[in-house]
Amino acid sequence: MIKAIRGTRDILPPASALWNHVESATREVCRGFNYHEIRTPIFEETALFARGVGEDTDIVSKEMYTWEDRDGTSITLRPENTASVIRAYIEHRLDQIPGLKRLYYIGPMFRRERPQKGRYRQFSQIGAECIGSESPLIDAEVIELSLEILSRCGVQNPHLLLNSVGCKECRPKFVQALRERLQDVKGQMCQDCQRRADTNPLRVLDCKVPEDQNIIDSLPSILEYLCEPCAKHFETVKGHLEARGIDYEIRSRLVRGLDYYTRTTFEVTHGALGAQNSILGGGRYDGLAESLGSRVAAPGIGFSIGEDRLVMAIEEHVKGEELARLDVFLIAMGDPALKHAAVLAQELRRGGASVELSADQKVKRAMETANKLGARYALILGDNEIAAGVYALKNMATATQESLTREQLSAALSRRQDVVHHD
Ligand SMILES: [Zn+2]
Ligand SMILES: [Zn+2]
Repeated sequence: MIKAIRGTRDILPPASALWNHVESATREVCRGFNYHEIRTPIFEETALFARGVGEDTDIVSKEMYTWEDRDGTSITLRPENTASVIRAYIEHRLDQIPGLKRLYYIGPMFRRERPQKGRYRQFSQIGAECIGSESPLIDAEVIELSLEILSRCGVQNPHLLLNSVGCKECRPKFVQALRERLQDVKGQMCQDCQRRADTNPLRVLDCKVPEDQNIIDSLPSILEYLCEPCAKHFETVKGHLEARGIDYEIRSRLVRGLDYYTRTTFEVTHGALGAQNSILGGGRYDGLAESLGSRVAAPGIGFSIGEDRLVMAIEEHVKGEELARLDVFLIAMGDPALKHAAVLAQELRRGGASVELSADQKVKRAMETANKLGARYALILGDNEIAAGVYALKNMATATQESLTREQLSAALSRRQDVVHHD
């Protein structure tokens, strides 16, 4: 028997309803902020990610799905989407179109990670980018957008961590200080940190090994090394967040793994204290376009949400079964009633209800089916009901029955707006 490849999975109903829920919520929130969808290919030339993500990152060095196409071109399944969005921005000269480019995307990414719980080799990201401005106002806008998406999806207690990683003027001075300090202490640190201390000192700050944490806390903070413009930018971002009533925690250790990040970086965790899980990461990438060969500057800031983790975060209190629940199981007794029922089903569906018309006309068996399907209501239709124009709507949970006219029936079944969103 052929099975899905390790690290990939099928998302089946009713769980798929949760995915639809977060995607609809995202589209709605993005629309409110005037962000519009961009769809880029899922594979690109390998060089795009090597340059855009950074050759010495784990993503590029270990985790990409790369192959040589028949014409010899090296091709890679996208491991993330910011580089592709910027590539499209440059290729289509979007800088020539007036206004900032506010874009969002939803789609699968691919990384060959070691399979473990909650990690998939094909996973999905929801992300947004605002390109064309260095203004701290945009940093605040993008952070607000990301939090609004999480909250509309139903994430509880999101916690914003904020930092600045400086620019190409000030960051090297910090890296130098870090490198020097690490020479004194790296002997007491884990193997990975000993290696990183020489190759990529910033990565030491990401170390999760408990024994290293005290040492890491004693290392210099990047915030003490910010140049004047970076420090001012960061203060202004914080001011705009405060004006929006957005709480944050400064986390000077927050340096993201990708090379092109400058100034603002942020992360959102959720969950009860002590079990904080990261669900979203983002930051500014003012030098990315140039590093991809653009002659025009395209400063930008964006974020990505791990959709798989987002769904995991809400499935405790947002139930796919509820979102996917059938509204009406319609049972017709006899052929004339069946024709009538088909037209009634049409009308109710157009009003927004989900309706399944029973193929089985044996009422007892059909009612059992309605029960097994978890339908909210059953509606039994016979010649008498049709003649009287009065319909008996049975609430399956309470086993109570109401007699309704056709108009009352349509009104009672018009679908709840929070369940289905029409764009
Ligand atoms: Zn700076
Ligand atoms: Zn370590």
